[in-house]
Amino acid sequence: MLSDDLTRAESQITRHPDYPEPGVVFRDITPLLADGTSLRAVTDAMYRPFAGGFDIVAGVEARGFLLAGTIASLAGTGVLPIRKAGKLPDPAASIEYTLEYGSARIEAPGVLFPGARVLVVDDILATGGTLAASQQLVRELGGELVGTTVILELDGLGGRETVGDHVHSVFTAAL
Ligand code: AMP
Repeated sequence: MLSDDLTRAESQITRHPDYPEPGVVFRDITPLLADGTSLRAVTDAMYRPFAGGFDIVAGVEARGFLLAGTIASLAGTGVLPIRKAGKLPDPAASIEYTLEYGSARIEAPGVLFPGARVLVVDDILATGGTLAASQQLVRELGGELVGTTVILELDGLGGRETVGDHVHSVFTAAL
């Protein structure tokens, strides 16, 4: 059963049909991020199953950065930014992947020590393409993937199957 804080946080995720294109129901987490109690409750719930088992938190640009920074601060670890293509002077790994809408390329810097245990975070698990590509980046960088965690998992897009084991979502919603 969810705590009162988590129940309120879930209600702060707003639905926006046909954004950014027809057929997509966009979930906006910005009201949740703006509420300190909700942000604390959600980020705590995101990393608790993995607490003590990771050395660094990898966050996917851009909303994943906010969550990774908050979780790293709670857990006392560092952050690995997974960036959109063209933002890093010397990326150590680069992968192109398919999104629910469009396609994208992500890159990461070579800052992991060999065998670093990495927790990958993002806001929403939809098709799983972004997180699967992020997992692949972590492995190419020499990190050990210990888990993947999101605020919201959208059911019915096969994301969990694409991303694989050790996925944790605080909330789940039907499409
Ligand atoms: P995917 O790779 O399909 O799992 O998509 C995940 C990424 O796209 C996340 O970084 C989300 O921020 C964003 N995203 C995908 N679908 C949605 C949606 N319906 N609402 C908001 N963001 C989404």
